[in-house]
Amino acid sequence: MSEIIIIGEILVEVMAKHLNQRFDQTGEFLGPFPSGAPAIFIDQATKTGSSCAIVAKVGNDGFGRLNIERLQRDGVDVQYIQTVAEKTTGIAFVTYRENGDREFIFTLKDSAAACINRQDITEAMFQGCKYYQINGCSAFNEEMMATIKKAVFLAKAQNARIAFDPNIRKELLEDENFKQFIDFILKNTDVFLPGEEELRFITGLEDEEQAVRKILEQNVRYVVVKRGKRGCRVYDQQSYFDAAPFQVEEVDPTGAGDCFAGTLISLLNQGKSIQEAVLFANAAGAYAVTQKGPMEGTATLEELKAFMRSKGGETRCL
Ligand code: ATP
Repeated sequence: MSEIIIIGEILVEVMAKHLNQRFDQTGEFLGPFPSGAPAIFIDQATKTGSSCAIVAKVGNDGFGRLNIERLQRDGVDVQYIQTVAEKTTGIAFVTYRENGDREFIFTLKDSAAACINRQDITEAMFQGCKYYQINGCSAFNEEMMATIKKAVFLAKAQNARIAFDPNIRKELLEDENFKQFIDFILKNTDVFLPGEEELRFITGLEDEEQAVRKILEQNVRYVVVKRGKRGCRVYDQQSYFDAAPFQVEEVDPTGAGDCFAGTLISLLNQGKSIQEAVLFANAAGAYAVTQKGPMEGTATLEELKAFMRSKGGETRCL
């Protein structure tokens, strides 16, 4: 029985060694690193004290084993990770630009992760589930959308809450099917975790408060707007508050949002207040960007407390 469940892609990341390195020129790369937004989320949620499982597919290869071993070491329930013999584990190649932008090459759609389907999820998996986390980036084909929708019904049947991190590009909403999928998820969401830009293009509204109001009208409990190095703002039906960021030197921004979300949902699952959950989530996001590699920046509560103490901020919001 797992309290937090996620369904989605497990990948490895292979990163360019140098800034401004190009994909169309031969160069040196570092990795493989365990990755995939859902995998990072669930690793972080587990490390901060919740019982968690991921439903995923990897190839019968070293990249898959690297991920399974990492997740297992960190305490994630890996029994729902299947190995697909005829496919490889998904790979994300990434290179960084001087201005902080990232460029990716993904093999996701041809990988084992793209074989996840409705038959992979069952009622039994959701028994005792308290939070089902959805990552918009996992809805990368029709079958994944159908699988996630099925999971929403199974989770709701257990009275689980739905948390939704859109993690999508604006262009995807030009597809009517995808747009309808996002509308369906939002109607069922309890905790919504967009970035500032995502909130604007998902609602079609430029003004943040108006955009949030539109979302809250659908019975969403919390809208947590992530603002990168500026921290985050939390809205509920009545009001909002800001949670200040922790000042860090950014080494690698990948995974910050997933570590933030994993911590937030894990602490809400454990009955902590939204203020406390967000304080730790901010710390987890900040800590994540200080480590090279997408999943290398996940941290336990003890590690986060030590990090906050080092920044003089442990009791800031408590
Ligand atoms: P990504 O998709 O890159 O994983 P995201 O866009 O979903 O991230 P961000 O807003 O970049 O989410 O980061 C999530 C949270 O992590 C922020 O709200 C903030 O609390 C923390 N964070 C991110 N970057 C920094 C930073 N450079 N310094 C301090 N805190 C940061």
